Amino acid sequence: MFQALKNGDLVITNNKQKILKYLTANKILLNLRIMTLADFKNSYFGTYNEKAIYYLMKKYAYKYENAKLYLDNFLFLPDLKQELIANDLLVFEPLFKENIKRIVVMTPFVDKYILEEIEKYPHVFLLDSQGAYKPRVKAFEDMETEVENVAVDILELLKSISIDDISLVVEDSSYEPVIRKIFKLFNIPINIDTKKYIYGLKQVQVFIKKLRSTKSMEEALEVLEEDEVYNKVVAICNKYRFTEVDEVIIEALTEELKLAYLEKEKNPSAINLVSLKDIEENNYYFVLGFNQGTIPRIYKNEDFLSDSKKEKLHILTSLEKNNLERQEVINKITNNPHVFLYYKKSLDNQEILPSALIQELDLKVSEENNSHYHYSHLFNKLVLAQKLDAFIKFNEKDEDLALLYNNYHDMAYLTYDNSYKQINVAKFKQLYPNLVLSYTSLDNFYRCRFRYYLTNILKVDKFEETFMTLIGNIYHAILAKCFTNNFDFEAEYNLLIKDKDFSYKEQFFLEKLKNELKEVIDIIKKQNSYSSLTNNLYEQKVEIKLNNEVNFMGIIDKVVYEEENGQTYVAIIDYKTGNVSPNINNLVYGLDMQLPIYLFLTDYLKFNNPVVVGFYLQKVIGRPLAYQPGKSFKEEREKLYRLNGFSTDKEEALAKLDYDYADSKVIKGMKKSSKGFYAYTKVLNADNLEAIKKMVEDKITTAYEQIKQADFVINPKNIGGELVGCNYCPFKDICYKKEDDEVRLKEQDYHDFLGGEQENVD
Ligand code: SF4
Repeated sequence: MFQALKNGDLVITNNKQKILKYLTANKILLNLRIMTLADFKNSYFGTYNEKAIYYLMKKYAYKYENAKLYLDNFLFLPDLKQELIANDLLVFEPLFKENIKRIVVMTPFVDKYILEEIEKYPHVFLLDSQGAYKPRVKAFEDMETEVENVAVDILELLKSISIDDISLVVEDSSYEPVIRKIFKLFNIPINIDTKKYIYGLKQVQVFIKKLRSTKSMEEALEVLEEDEVYNKVVAICNKYRFTEVDEVIIEALTEELKLAYLEKEKNPSAINLVSLKDIEENNYYFVLGFNQGTIPRIYKNEDFLSDSKKEKLHILTSLEKNNLERQEVINKITNNPHVFLYYKKSLDNQEILPSALIQELDLKVSEENNSHYHYSHLFNKLVLAQKLDAFIKFNEKDEDLALLYNNYHDMAYLTYDNSYKQINVAKFKQLYPNLVLSYTSLDNFYRCRFRYYLTNILKVDKFEETFMTLIGNIYHAILAKCFTNNFDFEAEYNLLIKDKDFSYKEQFFLEKLKNELKEVIDIIKKQNSYSSLTNNLYEQKVEIKLNNEVNFMGIIDKVVYEEENGQTYVAIIDYKTGNVSPNINNLVYGLDMQLPIYLFLTDYLKFNNPVVVGFYLQKVIGRPLAYQPGKSFKEEREKLYRLNGFSTDKEEALAKLDYDYADSKVIKGMKKSSKGFYAYTKVLNADNLEAIKKMVEDKITTAYEQIKQADFVINPKNIGGELVGCNYCPFKDICYKKEDDEVRLKEQDYHDFLGGEQENVD
């Protein structure tokens, strides 16, 4: 066929490689211009570029895909075409038509309006015609069996044919996961998933975020490392550098990034996945899914331009395309003696018809199922497990069951290994070079390393805003601002709930909680009247680096302080909308560390000679109170919101936070008689405070060292019979924790270990 090619020909084909291969093999030197039909159309009639996309998106507020849809059809939309020409938004190839000497058409799918133009020049059609071969067809019950048999047929063929000469024809992408699995089991190398889409990569997401915030391509590109992803992103950016970055440019760039991918290098000694149109006269082709609707492909009347409009515009209608498609498939499969067709008879228990071409071409169908047990132990074991399932559950005894069971009777059937498999430490460090720890991540880690791994490394725990998390955010936001001058409660509150939808039930609680929040603010103001610490810091972010390596970050809700005589008296308060427990008994196990961490972080708040007065949790949503005879409702409500935590035993310092600390109305459980603090009062001396800080630092650095080793075993902590490690853990369905995984620890009392030896458990 290619002998007809002449110097100076313009060749329209979808298979440029085939021509180049022919010319090279036959040492023929010809000056040809080879292009696809789409390229020919663009060069001949003109095309559009990114400026046109931007123009339509900007002017008509079109979405990116709609702008593209109109532009792809601009030849048939006269008003649009005029507008594009008037605004210089079409690109033409000068002298393209003048340089055409002869056109060689090697694809049948040419619209009539293009043919009419081609016919104005000398031209020739070089198209396949129907051949004489009748390919062999095999039918199988389902997709898995079909692919298994193809794999076995390929293994047999590989005994005499090189792997380079074999291709797999796949027109239905749903086959790909099955091919991947089965070919791996049979150890047949295959080039599959060769495209790596970049949109989901973290660095691309960071780039988009930066672009949105800075509106600068240069600044956004700085977040990327100079690698192949960077080159891809730069190439896309370069197409949109004709104007300032605005929302339209960002949308267009984002849409292009969604489609951008990197080509993975193909293994030259592996089977390639090809399309039916790539079938050549030589080589061996295994065609999967030779089913009705898949091969030949069916075109429907559902394009932007309907068939009736296409007919008027001399574009191929769906009916014409279906005829051409049918003929092309016939030509492809009848011109090569090594095309093997396979089809499945069912999918998801639904019957699937074979391709109508089988009957039309009178092809012979074999239903013989190869015996697969000579190729892969792993495959055999999987088959045995399936047959055992059917036997145990449905009493269906397959004829091969005994054979397989005798050979693999020691197979680990119905056992499950839930243990964490160590991941490569070097790879882990490369992927997570800048780990930042926080109270919550440490808490996860010390509760159970696997919980930390799923939450903080793999981030599989999707955050969903619930009514309660929203309430928590509202409370924290208001309490961070409400003690400033000119604070407008209603305005701030309304801003926070703007654009949120609430059910009637939620609206009821919202109104109730709003009034409670006002009450809490009044109570805190009253508490403040007992204090001489008049300065406040809210939502204080503290970022530190320990040992020049360990990054730690904490946000403290509220710090109250006052500098006097060269010393700064500091109290730390964390608001709680949920349950409050300032217990530090499990500090020795790395748990209950929130308040100790805040204490530790005070040293980094850059205060002049800080003296810690106390560190407390403060409940801000109280429980409803029952009537108590002889008690004041107001006073009982005020008690609910007292500070709950640990105070210094230095009375002079304590008096700064609450001058009435001897019978405190501000600090829960704070009481003193002439003999000293009551036994239940939570006071700590300077050594205790230093010991806590030291323990926190040790826990942070120990966790960091262990995380770096990527050791995330399932080890939930069971303290005194209570499985605290798994409390509120969302991964119970994933980890399949066994009793043996639990780390059993004894209960602790902070009085015993503060200042004493620590027990290290992780
Ligand atoms: S449920 Fe328990 S064992 Fe499983 S991941 Fe969570 S904390 Fe670990």
